[in-house]
Amino acid sequence: MKYLSTRGQVPEVSFSTAVEHGLAPDGGLYLPVDLPDLSVHLEEWEGLDYADLCEAFFALFATDIDKEELHAIVSRSYNKFDDPEIAPIVRLDDTCHVLELFHGPTLAFKDFALQLLGNFYEAQINRTGKPISVLGATSGDTGAAAIHGLLGKKGVTTFILYPDGRISPLQERQMTCTGADNVFPLAIEGSFDDAQTAMKTVFQDRVFAAEVGLSAVNSINLARILAQCVYYLYAYFRLSAEVREKTTFVVPTGNFGNVLAGWLVQQMGVPIHGFRVATNQNDILHRLFSTGTYRLDAVAPSVAPSMDIQVASNFERFLYYAVGRDCAKVREIMQTFKGTGEYVFDDFDGGTFSSSRTNDTEISAIIQQVYEDFGYTVDPHTACGFKRDAEVSHPELILATAHPAKFPDTIHQAISQEATHPSLQALKSRSLVKHHVESTPEAIKAFMRAHV
Ligand SMILES: *Cc1c(COP(=O)(O)O)cnc(C)c1O
Repeated sequence: MKYLSTRGQVPEVSFSTAVEHGLAPDGGLYLPVDLPDLSVHLEEWEGLDYADLCEAFFALFATDIDKEELHAIVSRSYNKFDDPEIAPIVRLDDTCHVLELFHGPTLAFKDFALQLLGNFYEAQINRTGKPISVLGATSGDTGAAAIHGLLGKKGVTTFILYPDGRISPLQERQMTCTGADNVFPLAIEGSFDDAQTAMKTVFQDRVFAAEVGLSAVNSINLARILAQCVYYLYAYFRLSAEVREKTTFVVPTGNFGNVLAGWLVQQMGVPIHGFRVATNQNDILHRLFSTGTYRLDAVAPSVAPSMDIQVASNFERFLYYAVGRDCAKVREIMQTFKGTGEYVFDDFDGGTFSSSRTNDTEISAIIQQVYEDFGYTVDPHTACGFKRDAEVSHPELILATAHPAKFPDTIHQAISQEATHPSLQALKSRSLVKHHVESTPEAIKAFMRAHV
């Protein structure tokens, strides 16, 4: 399997190269040249456990990695999860199921991809002998998950940019209390989008990228999207035969990485009914799916900070397919959007996507309501998924993207309960190490040069 860039101005590359680059050198995002047809594998894959399903799925994509190595990589990636099902489904009632994606080491869905990515990097460094520097920008959970996926991996130095004061104190502790000397959490002034913009500019400096062996862990990395595809498949198999083709997957969304993975699985021939993109008050995607206009707005910090995003990087991957795989059109749209902060699609077709928006007041009310109705505690991101139309008649599977204990203040305000988790309790007694850096590409590069 080969991989192309959505902007179409670089040669096709192998899986390992796409993973190593993260962002394509032309500024585009990697995608498989052709999507494989999964419908022919469904019968054979039905009863597989999580790791085996992951391995079978990746065998179709990571075709330049030999089978034994792939097996070793995947089997190491899900052994730090605290539930034997890895991604268990909880049934709340006939029309409402929850897919719990928070059983990994940092208690958010991003562990699914980053535990695996850490092992891909390690295998690659063993193969090439070349050390790498990982640079990421985080709105909270990516950074923690990336750091824990890369912790203790030889040859990797990790730099994570995050907006100072705009992530939860526990998220910050997960990044800054590791005690690892190859991990650098960089606190910047500004929003997540500022961090992401600066990061993208650093990646475009090819000389610098080569100098430090730069690689990306943001949701632009293809391996992350593919890793996320696996739990959609797994959930599809775990739903009963009567409902699995009628169920809408509801995805709390920021950067569009999570829901894009589900959509790709559907495009590969798995008959998933549809998707609801659940945003918080930062609703660029809700506005897109309801009006056809993709327009940048200021980020308004919310109680669901990992979704406080306006520029949804992974949208470009969907766009590539939406414009009929026309890379020139993708370039034109991204150029216009970059220049004017807006793109208006004439006759925009969202296909099987629907969308919703939930503000902070509603999030709190939902946490309370779900607790009263089902005795179940949802974190503020997952709560956005519970904003349902008055009469939902078809079944929904809501993806629970984080453990409620990561956001104890919001939970306490809503239901007067203490949300805790042993791994978070342990962090409170450790010392915190972070670095303040200006959110300019120059300042970031200088810091990295000094620390690789
Ligand atoms: C990252 C994150 C999201 C948003 O996921 P995207 O892939 O950016 O759409 C939602 N909830 C939580 C808890 C997250 O960490």
